[in-house]
Amino acid sequence: CFCGLKGNIEDCECEVDTLDDFNNVKIYPRLRSLLVKDYFRYFKVNLKKKCPFWEDDSKCSMRYCSVQSCQKDDVPIGIKGEVKKEEFFGPFLSESGSMCRNVKKPISSCVPNQCQCQNVGHTTVPKENECGRSNNLDYLNTTLSAKIVKDMELWTAHDYAQENFCIIDENDDESEYVDLLLNPERYTGYKGKSAERVWKSIYTENCFQARSWEKPSIFKLDNMCLEERVFYRTISGLHASINIHLCANYLLSDPNKPSLIQPTGEWGMNLEEFERRFLPSSTNGQGLNWLRNLYFLYLVELRAIEKAAPLLEREAFYTGNEKEDWDTKMAVNDLLKVIKQFPSHFDESVMFMGGTDKKNLKREFRDHFRNVSRIMDCVGCDKCKLWGKLQTQGLGTALKILFSIENGKVENFKLQRNEIVSLLNAFGRLSNSIYKLDDFREMQKK
Ligand code: FAD
Repeated sequence: CFCGLKGNIEDCECEVDTLDDFNNVKIYPRLRSLLVKDYFRYFKVNLKKKCPFWEDDSKCSMRYCSVQSCQKDDVPIGIKGEVKKEEFFGPFLSESGSMCRNVKKPISSCVPNQCQCQNVGHTTVPKENECGRSNNLDYLNTTLSAKIVKDMELWTAHDYAQENFCIIDENDDESEYVDLLLNPERYTGYKGKSAERVWKSIYTENCFQARSWEKPSIFKLDNMCLEERVFYRTISGLHASINIHLCANYLLSDPNKPSLIQPTGEWGMNLEEFERRFLPSSTNGQGLNWLRNLYFLYLVELRAIEKAAPLLEREAFYTGNEKEDWDTKMAVNDLLKVIKQFPSHFDESVMFMGGTDKKNLKREFRDHFRNVSRIMDCVGCDKCKLWGKLQTQGLGTALKILFSIENGKVENFKLQRNEIVSLLNAFGRLSNSIYKLDDFREMQKK
C-alpha cells in the first residue's frame, strides 16, 4: 500500500501489485520503444554551468562519469531547426495554435486533433497527422505572414508569463545535444563528500523546514502540510529511482582490470547493493518508505501526462523525417490511450487551495523546486548531472502542467521540445525503476 490522494503514506488508495501490473505490462514496453525514437533521444543540456551555491569540489574522475556529446551531424535537422525551405512549406497556424505542414497554401481552418487543412488549389490534401506545432521560432519569424507572427508573439509572451518550476537550458548558448542512448544512466562511482553535499543541500535547505541530516528518519510526514509532503515525497522518489538505476546497472567487473573481452566493463544487477540501500534493516526502517515515494512520484508524473494529453496529441514530434515523425506520433497516441484508461490517483486540485497563505506556499514550492534544479549544476559527475538535470526538468514540467492548466484548458498552454523530451524520459526512468524492482524481487526469491 503506497499512495493516497492526499500524499500520506498511510492512505491506502491503491496497491503495489495493481500499479506493477499496469506499469510492467502496459507502460514499460511502450515507453521502451518510444524513447529510442529520434525526437526523444536527443536532449539539449548545458553541463558547463558553474555551481551557483559553492565552489565546485572534487570532480568525478572515473571514466564512467563522463558524457559523450553528439557530433553536429548526428542530430536530425528538424530538431536543430535547420529546416530546408523547399522541403518544408508550412507551417500555417490556426487561431487555436495548431499547425498544418507540408501544404503550399494557407488553410481555412486547422483544429487540433481534427486537422481540417483544406489545401485550396492543390492536389495534395494533408492528412490528419499533419497537424502539430513547431519550436523553430527563427524560421517561423522569417517566413510566415504577419498574422502568424502575431500568434507566435502571443505564445511567446504567454510562455514568459508561465510559471516555470525549473531552469530550462534549451535556449542557452553553451547547451549541447546529448544522445541519451549513448549515455545510459548507471553506476558511475560518484559518491562521498560531493554527492552527500548535493543530497544534503536538497533535503535540508530546500525542503520546507530545516531538518537534521544526521537523522533522516526525522522527516516525519505527519508534521508536514500536504504541499510539503508532496514536495518531500517527489524528491525522495527521484532519489530512490536514481539509486535503483545504479544498483540495476552496476559495474560488476573490477574497474582497475579492464577485460579484453568486455573492455567497457561488465554491467548488471547488484542485489547486495540494492539491499544495502533499501532493506529496512540497513536503512533505519526507511527504505520501504523511499520505495513508496517512488510509486508516489510515478503517479504524480502519470497524472501530469494524462492532463497534458490534448497537447501531446497535437504535437508534430518534428525531426525532418516524415516516416519517423509519424511513427513517433502514433506511439505517443497509443501510450496516451493506455494512460487514460488507468484511474488517476494524484489529485492536484486539492493543493494550494485557500487564501494568501496558500498562494505564498505555491510560490515557495515553486522557488524551492527551481533551487533543486539549480543544485543540479553542483553535481560533480557529468553523467549523473545529465540524468539529474533531465529528471528534475521532467518533474518541473510535470508540476508546471499540474499547477498551470486549469479546468482542462490547454489552448494557451505551450511546452518546449525539451520539456516534452524531459517529461517522457523522466517518466521512462520511473517506469524502468518499477520494472527493475520486480527483477530484484525475483532475485531475492531465488
Ligand atoms: P546517498 O544516496 O548519497 O543518500 C544519502 C542519505 O540520504 C542516505 O544515507 C539516506 O539517509 C538518505 N536517503 C537515501 N535514499 C533516500 C531516499 N530515496 N529518500 C530520502 N532519503 C534518502 N551515482 C551513480 O552511480 N550513478 C548516477 O547516475 C548517479 N546520479 C546521481 C544524481 C544526483 C543528482 C546525485 C546527487 C547523486 C547521484 N549519484 C549517482 C550518487 C548516488 O545517488 C549516491 O549519492 C552515492 O551512490 C552514495 O550513496 P550513499 O549510500 O552514500 O547514499
